[in-house]
Amino acid sequence: MNKLVPLIYNKLLNKYGSQGWWPVYSLRNTEGRDNRGYLIRSVSIDPGRDFAPGEFFKFEIAIGAVLTQNTAWTNVEKALSNLIDLNLMDTKIISDIDQKELANVIRPSGYYNQKAKKIKILTRFLLDGDYLKDGNIPHRTDFLNLWGIGEETADSILLYGYNFPVFVVDAYTKRIFTRIGILEGSENYEEISRIFTDNLEKDSVIFQEYHALIVRHAKEFCKKKALCERCVSKPFCLGTVN
Ligand code: SF4
Repeated sequence: MNKLVPLIYNKLLNKYGSQGWWPVYSLRNTEGRDNRGYLIRSVSIDPGRDFAPGEFFKFEIAIGAVLTQNTAWTNVEKALSNLIDLNLMDTKIISDIDQKELANVIRPSGYYNQKAKKIKILTRFLLDGDYLKDGNIPHRTDFLNLWGIGEETADSILLYGYNFPVFVVDAYTKRIFTRIGILEGSENYEEISRIFTDNLEKDSVIFQEYHALIVRHAKEFCKKKALCERCVSKPFCLGTVN
């Protein structure tokens, strides 16, 4: 057991509070959501069981997971807003729409030609497998076999869309936990993911929150140039630089 993994989770949660992921843009300003679609929760060690986005919004989460590749969420919001305003957030419509037209609509997210192709392939897959139906969860390997869907995207859809307990790994996870000393830095995606799943309660809510907290921490303190002085991980971090 690596006791630092749950300890750092609690430290980050105490510091930042629940992050309210995954933001569902079309649910913004509805009960329990803020004006960007994030869940509103009180700050607590146990963030509660209210992460489940509902079956209807799985599709939006899947689309968002593709749109967010290599771009900031603010750009994703613009692309989602276009899709919603034009009444295109529908599996059948996305499946039928001309790829170039779709690319134009999601242009604010960058890499829009590639992303339009990915979204159409992903949508076809979800439709063919009836994977938006309650309880019908796609296999991770089936996601990975789709063009343009890598591990981070597949796991984001599974974790936030389906509440399936996989741990999402990104460059921030690598950076923070290598600096702290939990990772050596040479581990692959699966090895990193296992360090979290092996040392935490197997609970999708905790995995959802932890990943969101890692992103927050990487943006606020453990940046490229780390701000260690007031970091909550400083007492156990081997990479402290000041
Ligand atoms: S102490 Fe510094 S290097 Fe370590 S986690 Fe905090 S910000 Fe990152």
